[in-house]
Amino acid sequence: MTNRRNFLRNASLLAAGGIFAGKSSSVSAAMPGMSQSAAPTCGAPKVIGLQIYSLGRELHQDVPGGLKKIKAMGYTTLELAGYNDGKIGATPMAEFKKMCDDAGLLITSTHVNPPEREYSSKNKGKIMDFWKKAADDHAQIGVKYLIQPGQPASTRSTQEVEYVGEIFNGAGEIAKAAGLQFGYHNHAGEFAWVQPGGKEAKPNSRSFGKDAKGLEVIYDGMLKHTDPSLVFFELDVYWAVMGQADPVEYMRKYNDRIRVLHIKDRAVLGQSGMMNFEMIFNTAYYAIGKFDYFVELEGVRNMTQFEGVKGCAEYLMKAPFVK
Ligand code: MG
Repeated sequence: MTNRRNFLRNASLLAAGGIFAGKSSSVSAAMPGMSQSAAPTCGAPKVIGLQIYSLGRELHQDVPGGLKKIKAMGYTTLELAGYNDGKIGATPMAEFKKMCDDAGLLITSTHVNPPEREYSSKNKGKIMDFWKKAADDHAQIGVKYLIQPGQPASTRSTQEVEYVGEIFNGAGEIAKAAGLQFGYHNHAGEFAWVQPGGKEAKPNSRSFGKDAKGLEVIYDGMLKHTDPSLVFFELDVYWAVMGQADPVEYMRKYNDRIRVLHIKDRAVLGQSGMMNFEMIFNTAYYAIGKFDYFVELEGVRNMTQFEGVKGCAEYLMKAPFVK
């Protein structure tokens, strides 16, 4: 059954996907109370971040040389991946930081998954011990955001999602005590639905039958059960679309919770036709105001990861809607 909410959700998704692509000057008009001054100053150099996962193994073959290449492409900030016991890949974190300093790159964020995917009162202590070590290690190299990029397995019911929120709040407290901010990064699975007492998530609310009550999107439950002073959200706009969700709608609705974006496409930015980045950036400037973002690229064909990452930088450098 198509209700009003689904209609609006789908209409907005089409807009995000490009059906209504075009000049988005109406975005500010669509957002009462949002002033033009929320947009960054024109003429300042673009601050473009990169999630280093985008380079895969290619970066780790020559870290100092690779970082210099990244800087030359126009990237200024990095989000780390590959944290393992005080190292990034095989490089001790302090050395990695020094190499970034030498290349003129600032590490502002990191992706770290805890050692457990099932959350319970039995392993809560182990998970918190892990976050304490991860927060301390990253505090030593001046990282601002400590972000969990992977969905916990225990998100099969509304109650499990609520418990995940409790664990995230705990991680948030630990990060805050170390001077960092804890965030959560989505893929597509978080836009599935769950029900009270359920055994599994399902792709849409209709899958549960017309009499089902208390249905909830996992992502919305995560937002609801986390403390805004302890947990923020890094919205991966591509994975939101892949989860049949509208990143623009989420940024408008949760503009106080979504503070970082993953700018990602099916391959090199702007080439698939399925992502309306103009709408996404305009909404982020007006709805969120100040936000950080990181380019992410997964496996590419017929080119190296470095070539793909360079193509992404060129797209954002040229894009007039990226301030
Ligand atoms: Mg991502």
